[in-house]
Amino acid sequence: MPIQTYTGSCHCGAVRFEADIDFSHGTGKCNCSICTKTRNWGVVIKPEAFRLLSKPSATTDYQFKSTSSVHWPFCKTCGVRPYGLGDIPEVGGKFVTVNIACIDNISAEELAAITVRFADGRNDNWWNPPAVTSYL
Ligand SMILES: [Zn+2]
Repeated sequence: MPIQTYTGSCHCGAVRFEADIDFSHGTGKCNCSICTKTRNWGVVIKPEAFRLLSKPSATTDYQFKSTSSVHWPFCKTCGVRPYGLGDIPEVGGKFVTVNIACIDNISAEELAAITVRFADGRNDNWWNPPAVTSYL
């Protein structure tokens, strides 16, 4: 699948974005605390491939570890979290993780064809899948 430009939004539309994504690099689901509670299905892209089309003030930032360099902004109006921002050397420095569920111009057939990698984030075992993945 070549790089395509997708548009996405939160539920109420206050947060809107555009992202250039190559889904052939795979996507991720994880059992860490925030991915579990938000049912996150993400695709990691470079910051320059992501364009926030709405005002940053439409979101509230959220971080759950004082040492973390990952931000999980969410819409102030509807609570949906269309993307996250991070800077982790192990994944190549600065990145944006796009919430695939928030992409508006993708078909069910395209979604079904996307490769999903599972990560055992709950045990800080990010490069391996957890024993059970079917519920993620
Ligand atoms: Zn919203």
